[in-house]
Amino acid sequence: MDKQQEYVLRSVEERDIRFIRLWFTDVLGLLKSVAIAPAELENAFAEGIGFDGSSIEGLARVAESDMLARPDPSTFQVLPWRGDQRGTARMFCDILTPDGEPAAADPRNVLKRALNKAADAGFTFYTHPEIEFYLFHTPVSSGGPLIPVDEAGYFDHVARGTGHDFRRAAISLLESMGISVEFSHHEGGPGQNEIDLRYADALSTADNVMTFRTVVKEVALDQGIMASFMPKPLIQHPGSGMHTHFSLFEGDHNAFHDPAGQYELSDTARKFIAGLLYHSAEVTAVTNQFVNSYKRLWGGGEAPSYVCWGHNNRSALIRVPMYKPGKGQSARVEYRGIDAAANPYLTYSVMLAAGLKGIQEGYELPDEAEDNVWSLTDAERRAMGIAPLPNNLQDALDIMERSELVAETLGESVFAYFLRNKRQEWQEYRAQVTPYEVSKFLRAL
Ligand code: GLU
Ligand code: MG
Ligand code: MG
Repeated sequence: MDKQQEYVLRSVEERDIRFIRLWFTDVLGLLKSVAIAPAELENAFAEGIGFDGSSIEGLARVAESDMLARPDPSTFQVLPWRGDQRGTARMFCDILTPDGEPAAADPRNVLKRALNKAADAGFTFYTHPEIEFYLFHTPVSSGGPLIPVDEAGYFDHVARGTGHDFRRAAISLLESMGISVEFSHHEGGPGQNEIDLRYADALSTADNVMTFRTVVKEVALDQGIMASFMPKPLIQHPGSGMHTHFSLFEGDHNAFHDPAGQYELSDTARKFIAGLLYHSAEVTAVTNQFVNSYKRLWGGGEAPSYVCWGHNNRSALIRVPMYKPGKGQSARVEYRGIDAAANPYLTYSVMLAAGLKGIQEGYELPDEAEDNVWSLTDAERRAMGIAPLPNNLQDALDIMERSELVAETLGESVFAYFLRNKRQEWQEYRAQVTPYEVSKFLRAL
């Protein structure tokens, strides 16, 4: 047993922890949990806890269904909302096959593989997500109208607002679990909020995003309201994004920084951005994985629809944030395409792979977009070489299916499962007759 495992065993005893939840994530990014008793911990560390992988989305086929969940002791945290007495803690797990090999279809393992590739090239990948979500009054019935908890907008200060109490409660839970929060504020839509996590290595960030979603749901239940990360819940209001800032470090040095470069960006950063741009359509099915995701991308509200980059340009898919002279370590790029419902492990894997490809193949960065690209005409955008993102899930899947980069990064089993699952979602969706069609056509035709 190593030192971290011993530390966990000691903490469990000293803090009177009665349940340890083992957490992992399915291919679609939903959290799975199994609770074990403290007496099972040693065995869980040594061998893992067995479960039926074929019952978890995308993890295994029925014929090879036995899987093991082995907890990662570095992720041990007490769940503050379960109380101090006879408490509950959690650890994220790595999923193993019965012979102890990392399972190819475990999203955490997909990200670890991608991070190892970056490490081979000398890089550590840091990410910092801005997570948006809506707060609604709990609907009386599942088809009932969605009523946001307030009518406020961007950065509004609402006296006694539900959002203040909500954000305060969520942030204190997150911080007590070791997740640092940088900013929080009311977002553009009524009842819409944003909480930004401090940057961390991509594996910790992905784990933190999963914890974040759970904490936000817990706090909402506690306050008698409902939180949702659905990409576009309201037609007339902005969707919920998960813009993420990326940087690569070589040791202690931010490889994106060069004081002599344009916007103090290094050549490495420019090639990384070029890689993200070049492969953005291929990875969109991963960063925007639901039929509803495309309502956000094409529904206005400051979501990006076109493939371009800009300095401080909020209409661009990739934004180079304002840099502060002398703050070279914070040089980074913000990718605005990702939505709040993306699987963070798979998303960071494909983003990293696209950026690294740009660096390794020496991609040339096109000119930046200085205009508001939404207000240009199609012809103007075409003349400037600015392509649209995929229009809908089906287009995104068609493009992804031809992508060597995505196939290689996700690995054969995740790639195949993902395409199958999402094609099915598209077929189901395509068969719907929507309230829009009924109201528009029933009487008129
Ligand atoms: N809610 C917008 C989106 O869907 C982003 C607003 C912002 O710039 O933070 O991406
Ligand atoms: Mg925002
Ligand atoms: Mg942003």
